[in-house]
Amino acid sequence: MNSKIPEIYGSLVFNDKVMRDKLPKDIYKALRKTIDNNTHLEIDVANAVAVAMKEWAIENGATHFTHWFQPLTGYTAEKHDSFISPGPCGDIIMDFSGKELVKGEPDASSFPSGGLRATFEARGYTNWDPTSPAFIKDKTLCIPTAFCSYSGEALDKKTPLLRSMEALSKEAVKMLKILGKENVSGVSTTVGPEQEYFLIDEEDYKLRKDLIFTGRTLLGAMPPKGQEMEDHYFGALKPRVSEFMHELDEELWKLGIPAKTKHNEVAPCQHELAPVFDTTNVAVDRNQLTMEVMKKVAKKHGYVCLLHEKPFAGVNGSGKHNNWSISINGGDNLLDPGKTPDENIQFLVFLMAVISAVDDYADLLRLSVASAGNDHRLGANEAPPAIISIFLGDELTAVLDALEKDKLFDKKGRVQLEMGAKVLPHIFRDTTDRNRTSPFAFTGNKFEFRSLGSSFSVAGPNTVLNTAVAEELSKFSEELKGVPKSKLNEAVHEMLKKALKAHKRVIFNGNGYTDEWVKEAEKRGLYNFKSTPDVLPQLLAKKNVELFKKHGIYSETEIHARYEIMLENYCKTLHIEALTLQDMINKQFAPALMAYTDEVVGTALSKKSLLKTLSTEAEEKLAAQLSDYYTEILKRNEKLKKDTEKAQKITDSLKQAVFYHETVIKDMEELRKVADEAEGLIPEDLLPYPTYEQMLFYV
Ligand code: ADP
Ligand code: MG
Repeated sequence: MNSKIPEIYGSLVFNDKVMRDKLPKDIYKALRKTIDNNTHLEIDVANAVAVAMKEWAIENGATHFTHWFQPLTGYTAEKHDSFISPGPCGDIIMDFSGKELVKGEPDASSFPSGGLRATFEARGYTNWDPTSPAFIKDKTLCIPTAFCSYSGEALDKKTPLLRSMEALSKEAVKMLKILGKENVSGVSTTVGPEQEYFLIDEEDYKLRKDLIFTGRTLLGAMPPKGQEMEDHYFGALKPRVSEFMHELDEELWKLGIPAKTKHNEVAPCQHELAPVFDTTNVAVDRNQLTMEVMKKVAKKHGYVCLLHEKPFAGVNGSGKHNNWSISINGGDNLLDPGKTPDENIQFLVFLMAVISAVDDYADLLRLSVASAGNDHRLGANEAPPAIISIFLGDELTAVLDALEKDKLFDKKGRVQLEMGAKVLPHIFRDTTDRNRTSPFAFTGNKFEFRSLGSSFSVAGPNTVLNTAVAEELSKFSEELKGVPKSKLNEAVHEMLKKALKAHKRVIFNGNGYTDEWVKEAEKRGLYNFKSTPDVLPQLLAKKNVELFKKHGIYSETEIHARYEIMLENYCKTLHIEALTLQDMINKQFAPALMAYTDEVVGTALSKKSLLKTLSTEAEEKLAAQLSDYYTEILKRNEKLKKDTEKAQKITDSLKQAVFYHETVIKDMEELRKVADEAEGLIPEDLLPYPTYEQMLFYV
């Protein structure tokens, strides 16, 4: 198989090599220009590309094509059209035009739009994104596209992401020019998302309504052993899991997804996959595809792949680490501390832009990772706290400290006093520091945003990150406007000092899991949004609306639409959870409890009928206990039912979300608590669904 890797790698992708082979030279050049410089694509070029693409796709077994897009559901969407077209003699020809490649017109009325698109205007448009390569999946040529309404508002996750990449590129190029790099045509952000997931047996999954309907278990007591021995982390792979991972790698490689590392994670049945990084929009598309392929390959191996943020209470949930950096197109990583003083200035400017961005827009970053699922993780001492702060490591912090105090940081890392002279420090790359509790950590030449949930599209967080950094760079450029070259170093130094003073409160190298940090963060004036309904209103905060408008990421209408959709998603998720739990209690758990009580009572009765003097004390005690649980469970289930109905009647969407958060979730937790206690008394074979033990330890 090893020798085959280069052969299969990218075999299902219309990549640069295929384009070069299949396209006439001038067409290839024109397309390349569109991809690299974001220029308009002429229709004759599109026609020629379409022909080549169709031929390549058919050669590789495709019969259909689809515009593949990312509506605000968080999933990908596709509508397949076959290539066939009636021929002149009652036959068929395989046809695909430039127009079909470039634009699609799916009926969009059933996708969430937050009121952006009235149903009488249900048309939506998909527009080809030539920067993300087309690929073949299920005999279908998939063309990555952006999705917008009839009047041009974004209805997806890709459009704002592309806008944010453009905004950052523009501002970074402007800044680099000020710093003396005149010939930079563009700058891209890069992303490497590490993906966590659980694998459980499909047989078990099929018996759990909670997993089927909500992606997480709503009931289930922890077995005697959880993850406390930490024996699963990086442990040897079980043969069946290993087979799954091999096939997964292979399927991903075919799709040109550079899957690189894989290992067991902390919780039992939990694993991780990390690819080599890509340009952000390509990385986003590929991560969406990775999640889809994971699920599909899992099924083939008799597993179900769970991507929910918290499938099991009591063991770690799953997240996604968003490794992120900025690079000059075809050149330097701007977050790589350089070897020369010039490179160091560049590094410090971009570093400070990120620090300022994270401080100024911590609320938006927090919001970008908010969801009902992720609420179970953030701040729960298994994932970063909900407080957004930056980890820089000791050395870089010392460098910045020296900068602020006008001291020189020498080659050996000693701080020297440098009276009067304003010299920018020397910096060395340091990758030794690791702090797993920080939500936003510098890791040598990139930042790692660790608060994302495992099921997320990484588009949203990166849109915020790109835009916020673009804004800080734009402010920096404004400050340096008109400074003569001879004074530039000093002006940059002063600017960085000022920014550092203003934003250093967001830097925190300590343990983010402690209560002291929560108090300290509050003292520093940092945000601490504990839940999704808590943070969502920040989307409408004036500074944030201004930010998105200024950089052309979202119009005000688009922002309001997204706000509504996020609230709606939150409420719907909890509503489904509440109904599922009631259903499981009513139809499965309570009857099982009742059946067992019957059995116990029956035992007592038959003992007595056999011999009056036989003791039935144990049975009576157990029966009483079971009966008490039964009563309590039904009582709490009734409260949940009433509150769920109440929630449904609230018309204001924020108030509704808050009610779900404060009341319905609590009801669910309280109900679960007694049910899980009672579960400890019921024989396993009487439970109508597999226990935690069966799901987590018998895979
Ligand atoms: P960890 O120690 O956090 O597990 P890994 O080395 O497993 O880190 O993963 C790091 C991830 O960061 C990989 O996906 C890698 O491709 C990605 N990465 C490396 N350099 C960059 C960069 N310049 N921009 C974005 N991502 C990067
Ligand atoms: Mg990581």
